[in-house]
Amino acid sequence: MKIKTNIYFFLKEHPLALYICYILVVSVFCIALAQLSHGSSFRIWVYQLFHDEIMEKGIEYGEVEKSQRYGNLLTKYRLVEFGDTSPERINPQAPMIALTFDDGPSTQATKRILDALERYHAKATFFVVGSNSKRYPELLQEIAASGNEIGNHTDEHKDLTTLSKADVQEQIENVDFLVQEATGAKTTVIRPPYGAYDKKLLKRLEAPVVLWDLDTEDWESRNAHFIVQKVMTQVKDGDIILLHDIYESTAEAVEWLLPMLREQGYQIVTVSEMAHYKGKDLEKHKAYGEIEGITGQ
Ligand code: ZN
Repeated sequence: MKIKTNIYFFLKEHPLALYICYILVVSVFCIALAQLSHGSSFRIWVYQLFHDEIMEKGIEYGEVEKSQRYGNLLTKYRLVEFGDTSPERINPQAPMIALTFDDGPSTQATKRILDALERYHAKATFFVVGSNSKRYPELLQEIAASGNEIGNHTDEHKDLTTLSKADVQEQIENVDFLVQEATGAKTTVIRPPYGAYDKKLLKRLEAPVVLWDLDTEDWESRNAHFIVQKVMTQVKDGDIILLHDIYESTAEAVEWLLPMLREQGYQIVTVSEMAHYKGKDLEKHKAYGEIEGITGQ
């Protein structure tokens, strides 16, 4: 009883303390209210507050572990809030994107990216080249065994539009041979080096050509912060995002991006999965820059 009286007099004599208590009560009320309305501006503001903190403090100080903690927390939050039963279940109506990695596999980045993908229940497509496939068959195995997709980025990374029919075939078959030897299956899609293709080349290739519509320019910046900014400011449903799993900065960026993208509701899938779930299975003799589908129509 005496404590209660003391608090009463304390608050009466210190209006600032009373004011702070009032603010606290109103804040709790607002947060509770925001939880009730999905997509409210207050809620989005809270989300952005989290993201900005992760992006600025996290990357500046390189606190990867902290981001993973946030990521797990937020992913769990998303699962509870949005009623998802399994983090691996794909909802065809919800937004999805495909991360694609060229020029690998490499010891600098591929393993780290695979670990991050697994942690966030995400899948990606790896467009491998001949030299690295020959050097790291165990990485090819690991990509395939973890449910990720392997695409063909040619044997010697040449501009295919300048080659003869026989040379184009050789560039593709050499990689297919290495991938099949390591994993038991051939590549499913082709990404011509430099994204260079023409009608003649499309006719010659016996698998769908996959390009991209969001270029992270990771090969140029070699800066995780820049890559994250670029993706988070431009990403939209159906995007095919171009990255390279030969730089540590790209692996670091992926570790930051996965929790952020998932938290924004993006499902991270392989190119073929995205096409399939959007009702547009990939066809040979065609080139794809992004996959527009049933979402948002
Ligand atoms: Zn390339």
